Amino acid sequence: MDSQISVPLLDLKAQYAALKHELDGAMLRVAESQRFILGPEVDALERAMCGYLEVNHALGVSSGTDALLLALMALGIGPGDSVIVPTFSFFATAGVVSRLGARPIFVDVDPVTFNLDPSQIATRIDATTRAIVPVHLFGQSADMDAIMAVADEHGLAVIEDAAQAIGTRYRDGRRAGSIGTIGCFSFFPSKNLGAFGDGGLVTTNDPELYQRLRIMRVHGGEPKYYHAVVGGNFRLDELQAAVLNVKLPHLDGWSAARRRNAERYCELFREHGLAEGEGRQEFDAANRVLLPASVYRAGGVDDVHIYNQFTVRVADRDGLRAFLSERRVGTEVYYPVPLHMQECFRSDADGLPLPVSERLGREVLALPIYPELADEQLAHVVGSIADYYSHR
Ligand SMILES: *Cc1c(COP(=O)(O)O)cnc(C)c1O
Repeated sequence: MDSQISVPLLDLKAQYAALKHELDGAMLRVAESQRFILGPEVDALERAMCGYLEVNHALGVSSGTDALLLALMALGIGPGDSVIVPTFSFFATAGVVSRLGARPIFVDVDPVTFNLDPSQIATRIDATTRAIVPVHLFGQSADMDAIMAVADEHGLAVIEDAAQAIGTRYRDGRRAGSIGTIGCFSFFPSKNLGAFGDGGLVTTNDPELYQRLRIMRVHGGEPKYYHAVVGGNFRLDELQAAVLNVKLPHLDGWSAARRRNAERYCELFREHGLAEGEGRQEFDAANRVLLPASVYRAGGVDDVHIYNQFTVRVADRDGLRAFLSERRVGTEVYYPVPLHMQECFRSDADGLPLPVSERLGREVLALPIYPELADEQLAHVVGSIADYYSHR
């Protein structure tokens, strides 16, 4: 065991080093142009994203959170409305609903994919329901066929929270974020395609909705200074777009490297006798670690998981996490407290237990998965986990 190895959860310096020349040049070009807001870089990014994400319209915005907020605003969602969200997600998924005075309705997730369980949606729909927000958590698509079927049956909009899933394909090959009414993406630095700060994107195939989104991105002024609707400042900076334009051609390569790391992890966990296969749901002596499953892989589509996170489930999670920290392995818990149990949502939650998410909150642990990891680092992570369980 090499005691010098350290494995941070994420190390963006390797990526920057590889592209430093191009990235520095792109930032300098913006500086020299002194054009900072909604200029050629944002235009170019939006065009490139239409091609990459296979959608008719893409709009750069200020963050993934603002992408979600703008999507709900463009759909006219507000007080008296309710929106179905998975309870196991990043806070923003539900936070934006509350900020507009609407009520988030929390639904449990599937224990294998961590994504919204479509079979639990219909019973939560009532006359106030306006939309469903499936989250493609950790980089794998939610079950969009089933979700679109419920939405169509009840006349609901579908806003895909694809913040962690840029480039992900659903089992039929469609891109995450291209299937529902509106797709929302984040360029937060830790996402697979990260800016040098905050940024986001909304996508849609609906031309009228696109116009509404575009106008509401700039305070709802159309023409400028004439406001039929109230929007906000939801703009993406030229500097961020310039960085993203340099990075986008590399995204698929990075996601493929994440997938290779995920496969290597699974192999190593099997070799150490810690896991027998993907997608198990109960712990036993041969399955101390429950591996994430790439459930649509059998369909022959490559990009069904982009592993924004590689999240395992373990018993005694917090003990393991402390031990790994001593071994200089960075980990994180996405997410310890399901949204329906957050203090700020107490009045929205109706006291129903959502047992899968509550259990996941105790068991999930994200391991380092970023593209530049070396094999000896992956081996150090799994070897350290094996050491932890060997004397227990
Ligand atoms: C990151 C993230 C967001 C928010 O994106 P920001 O760019 O950080 O505002 C929303 N939903 C999910 C699932 C996310 O992971």
